[in-house]
Amino acid sequence: MNHGFAAGRRYFLQQAGKAASLLLPAGLVTAASKGEVSVASSKLSNKNYPFSLGVASGCPRQDSVVLWTRILPDPLQASSSGVLALNVRWEVANDEGFTQIVKQGKADAVPQLAHSVHVEVTGLQPERWYWYRFMLGDAISPIGRTRTAPAPASMPAHLKIAAASCQHWEFGSYCAHQHIANAQPDLVAFLGDYIYEWGPYALQHPKVAQRSDECFDLAQYRARYAQYKSDPQLQAAHLAAPWLMTWDDHEVANDYANLVDERLDRNFAARRAAAYQAYYEHMPLPPSVLMGQQFTQMRIFGRYDWGRLARFYVLDDRQFRATEACPKPGQGGSNSVTSACRERLDPKRSILGTVQEAWLKEELTSSKANWNIVLQQTLMAQNSQVPAFGAEEGRFWTDGWDGYPHARARLLRDIAASGVKNPIVLSGDVHTFYASELVQDFHQAVSKNNPIIATEFCGTSITSTSRPQARTERYMQDNPHTKFGRSDLRGFMLLDITPQQTTNTFVAMEDVTRSDSLAKNLARFVLEDGKIGVHKA
Ligand code: FE
Ligand code: CA
Repeated sequence: MNHGFAAGRRYFLQQAGKAASLLLPAGLVTAASKGEVSVASSKLSNKNYPFSLGVASGCPRQDSVVLWTRILPDPLQASSSGVLALNVRWEVANDEGFTQIVKQGKADAVPQLAHSVHVEVTGLQPERWYWYRFMLGDAISPIGRTRTAPAPASMPAHLKIAAASCQHWEFGSYCAHQHIANAQPDLVAFLGDYIYEWGPYALQHPKVAQRSDECFDLAQYRARYAQYKSDPQLQAAHLAAPWLMTWDDHEVANDYANLVDERLDRNFAARRAAAYQAYYEHMPLPPSVLMGQQFTQMRIFGRYDWGRLARFYVLDDRQFRATEACPKPGQGGSNSVTSACRERLDPKRSILGTVQEAWLKEELTSSKANWNIVLQQTLMAQNSQVPAFGAEEGRFWTDGWDGYPHARARLLRDIAASGVKNPIVLSGDVHTFYASELVQDFHQAVSKNNPIIATEFCGTSITSTSRPQARTERYMQDNPHTKFGRSDLRGFMLLDITPQQTTNTFVAMEDVTRSDSLAKNLARFVLEDGKIGVHKA
């Protein structure tokens, strides 16, 4: 989404911090510009330490998990890894002290993949915590904690999952990630905008802020990930639990759709492939996500089971979508349109693409899980401007699901027709806490003919800025299916799932500019088994 940003004291403080950080030895930049709280700061201060970006794990199955690291001694110098392939050792243990090593091996870190390492460890026991680390020469990585999913037939008593999105580096500290780590979840779901392809706003005029420092090629995207991942609080959230992840637009370019960006750049396919490669190089994804040559496509959508307690559907609504309806003249990307834009209402348009739509329908139909949780990037509930109910009037932002109303109706129809129990949609992108009831027809009130099909929770942003709360209040009035909205706070969501109920807490940071910010529980919603909706506790 586009971000309004008022130039002010904050901006200059950030710039002052940045300038100062350049004078410090490599590795101290993170601590200097983002504060002190740190798991790995002692490691970061060593210029030759090869694990400056930490470690991560992801995509847990009942018998496997993916381990990740990238060899990069200096987060700000890609050349600090050298030009040779490196052979990295890895270990998985039953205990934090590594007295019981259950799996170990070696993996190549090759310069063609930025010396990243992706190890898919198989043959693990279901529903267990493990500890893992990498070694290169005498150096030992930070120790990560990870776990496997429960066996398919089992009904685990409890699952705790944190969900987050949107972490523009320049807009705040990663204190929310420290609170995610402290919560010790079983899983972390990241719902997009892990990086932003543009850096701080450069002031061209007192009132006009322009994006600066934009990534276009592989070296630039890699450098951006390294900068973000040097943050010890982000590293802490990776050390705490395995992640499930999807991307949104800013991992590539603002508002991009499929192979079209807002500039209508003729070389956008190459730019997207570079961005996808950098994403792969920095995420705990299995090599099986790679399809085809040169990162032209990546299959990151997928299904993950947590015994019979929960099934997660990770969606990708960027890579395969139809381009946004009725763009501004001579541009691609989003627009705010009225019902005069007929293209938006074309039933043929898809946001997931036909292959992913059919796949999702299959996965829903075969689900025996008690909770069916869709993890995806953009807001699904209608979020139009005026009027609340009635004819299809109003203004619609075309980049989210509002730009694809028939695809949304199809998805919700498929959910309803599948008969899955307790469907929940988790979302990102709009930098706002929202709790909404998802229905077939958003122009009508909930009724017998227009029942609540699923509950949507949107988890604000880790740092990225949003609209003023007064505007969100007006959106709430215009969109009665949305029951809760807070755009003035940063944070994440924490879901506690048991067979009987799911509790979702909106966790807000008191002051995102401080890395030692306290967190507060802003609101809590309880969903009893069989009673989908928005019920504030
Ligand atoms: Fe964002
Ligand atoms: Ca976005």
